[in-house]
Amino acid sequence: MGAHTTPTIADEYASKYVQSRQLHHAARALLPGGITHMARAFDPFPLYIESCVGAHKWDVDGNRYIDYWMGHGAMLLGHAHPAVVEAIREQASRGTHAGGSTRLEIEWARLIMDLVPSAEAVKFTSSGTEATLLALRAARAYTGKRKIIKFEGHFHGWHDYVMCGVIPPYDTPMSAGIPEEVQRSVILVPFNDNAALTQALDSSDDIAAVIAEPGGSYDDTVPANPIFLAHLRQETARRGVVLIFDEVVTGFRYAVGGAQEYFNVIPDLTTLAKVMAGGLNGGAVVGSAEIMKIFEPKADPDWNRYRMVPHPGTFNANPLSAAAGIAALQIIATGEPTKRAQEMAEMLISGINQVLKHRGVPGCAYGRASIFKTFVGAEAPRVTRFDFSHVKEDTRTLMQGPPHAKTLRQGMVLNGVDLMRVAGFVSAAHTAEIIEETVHAFDCTIARMQQEGLLHG
Ligand code: PMP
Repeated sequence: MGAHTTPTIADEYASKYVQSRQLHHAARALLPGGITHMARAFDPFPLYIESCVGAHKWDVDGNRYIDYWMGHGAMLLGHAHPAVVEAIREQASRGTHAGGSTRLEIEWARLIMDLVPSAEAVKFTSSGTEATLLALRAARAYTGKRKIIKFEGHFHGWHDYVMCGVIPPYDTPMSAGIPEEVQRSVILVPFNDNAALTQALDSSDDIAAVIAEPGGSYDDTVPANPIFLAHLRQETARRGVVLIFDEVVTGFRYAVGGAQEYFNVIPDLTTLAKVMAGGLNGGAVVGSAEIMKIFEPKADPDWNRYRMVPHPGTFNANPLSAAAGIAALQIIATGEPTKRAQEMAEMLISGINQVLKHRGVPGCAYGRASIFKTFVGAEAPRVTRFDFSHVKEDTRTLMQGPPHAKTLRQGMVLNGVDLMRVAGFVSAAHTAEIIEETVHAFDCTIARMQQEGLLHG
């Protein structure tokens, strides 16, 4: 008999989750790559989830995890919040598609307008991707101009215009199949760079809009410098270029009124999704009444046929999403969930940073509002919640991501925590005990990675 050796994190992950492994084998024969969203791909297989409640989820092998995916950021209230579940149940029994207008869409729009500072009118879509596509089209129609400015590394969904310049090398779209003509209509600009933005805005008089993730690139991986956001607002306003904040992630999370409230920078148009639909599918373009008139038919056939932006969509404002969205936003309107999630995220970030310091491992946890990121195993980044003086120089490192991300994530899973990549979203259902448990899981994972020789210190 050979001496007993502890399996590596990778070996233990590969052998422990038998049902997930089997389901992934079955999925590969049916779904390209065996997955339904590129972010859910994980080597050698992803976990298959059976149920989610509060801040927890259970996999098909019966393991419980503290969840930091939180529905890709949609579940600010936590999973299966009783009020949201009840609203969905009640609406489901009355029909899930009215094939007509409903009271719900009015109530939903009113809530959004009450909460989001820039929202003077609402156009519902089925997803965040649809919202950014529609916002860009509206900006083009409103200004009569063709080009858009987009920031390197910013993610706005998967339609052609916004798949340009998301991941390095930025001159090649994130996906095959995007026409060169589309790429040429998108001007890519480095983020947090005042001079580069001014130069880009000056480079053409055919710019309809600038679109940005106001919290920072790729779900805040590179945090936004507030000084840059103020510059962005000023320079676009001066030129009559439509400023679009993509608040699909930051909406209702940075503040009840989103990042625009948090930074006090008010865009012309805002795109929303995720939190606004209470965990169901749904999105919206909201914005200034003047621009939103572009969607409005008039008693003028010429306007309706040639200048207006018509907007079909079978599931726009579908009653089930509307019911869930209303139930969620009514609770979020109190301000409590957003505040609580932020407090828990702050606790988590400082707990992780203490572990790294204690174990002498380079890296850090960072993040704003209830979004957190980890960067472990290499020096960088120097960014904190309040100091953005180095963020421009750190951009490349932050976008490249930390070494050993896969092992860190697997190790956290083995310790009962499901991170989204090596980051996550904190919800109002995360408690101080849950955060402590997470920090302990992180400590155990780091210790094991040190034992495996992956991390020094
Ligand atoms: N914008 C941002 C900032 C996002 O993070 C996402 C999705 N993660 C989208 C747009 C696209 O939204 P959806 O997945 O609902 O199409």
